[in-house]
Amino acid sequence: RAKMLGKARFVVFTPNLRTEAISRLDLEAQLQHAIERDELFLNYQPIYSLSSNDLVGFEALLRWNNPGRGVLLPADFISIAEESDLIVKIGEWVLLEACRQLKQWQKNYPDREELCININISGRHFIHPDFIHCLETTTTVTGLKPKYIHLEITETVLVENREKARIVFTTLNNMGYEIQIDDFGTGYSSLGYLLNFHVDMIKIDKSFIQSIGKGENGDHLVKTIVNMAQELGIDIIAEGIETERQLKDLKSMACKYGQGYLLSYPLASSGIDDLLQSGKKR
Ligand code: C2E
Ligand code: MG
Ligand code: MG
Ligand code: MG
Repeated sequence: RAKMLGKARFVVFTPNLRTEAISRLDLEAQLQHAIERDELFLNYQPIYSLSSNDLVGFEALLRWNNPGRGVLLPADFISIAEESDLIVKIGEWVLLEACRQLKQWQKNYPDREELCININISGRHFIHPDFIHCLETTTTVTGLKPKYIHLEITETVLVENREKARIVFTTLNNMGYEIQIDDFGTGYSSLGYLLNFHVDMIKIDKSFIQSIGKGENGDHLVKTIVNMAQELGIDIIAEGIETERQLKDLKSMACKYGQGYLLSYPLASSGIDDLLQSGKKR
């Protein structure tokens, strides 16, 4: 019977799926060694104050220079890493690399000491028993103050792992780290967690930002989110700003921060150096 089941399974396993499964296995095996082979690197996307046009920080975005396939984006490999504790190893590498880089910029550009780094944390990593310790060690080793480190998590983490997430969230908050909700509005329709957690900042998902100017509903939805956050004393970053129209509307809503291709693409660290040297606003 087992054999039959096995056979039956093999039948639905079409050649395409098979190729895809093999390539996932392949990628996973390669990803295991990506750190020691020095294939991972970070890009940094500037985040701006929408009221002053000042640069306030960067979001670190992971890239993988795969020897056979070229530079891969997170969509190509993060979900593979998240299937195991590989995401923990990678997350720890990102933390250290991003913090080290920010410290270097703060040192090299002392008048820009207030710049912050935003780091995406996978849910699996956030609730991992070593996470808090690792973060603490990274902060100490790099000599950064926790307030400059902004941890981006998605609302799903808070809803799916309530108890564990609450402990981690509260502990980090008390230690001085800022926690931001990434992709706000795409996870759960329940907003209850905003009452139970001290959320510092939400990042409105780019799908909402891109609905601005494409019919009234999009505009109203963004305005409603911005107003709600303002009522709750939560600051906002609008992500995925691509047009002048979107920027203008967000400014008129008094949305505090923004990020997107219109303002700047994610850049290699050398590109950020150029930006800091030029002292350019946006
Ligand atoms: P995210 O955290 O929401 O990051 C924003 C994504 O939107 C980035 O894609 C960025 O390049 C892209 N983006 C920025 N501005 C614009 C715009 O104006 N228009 C459009 N269409 N896109 C824009 P990226 O770099 O491919 O990253 C995708 C996702 O992968 C991130 O979404 C984040 O969830 C995840 N990710 C990135 N780096 C890391 C990491 O170090 N660790 C973990 N766990 N996840 C990461
Ligand atoms: Mg993010
Ligand atoms: Mg995200
Ligand atoms: Mg996002």
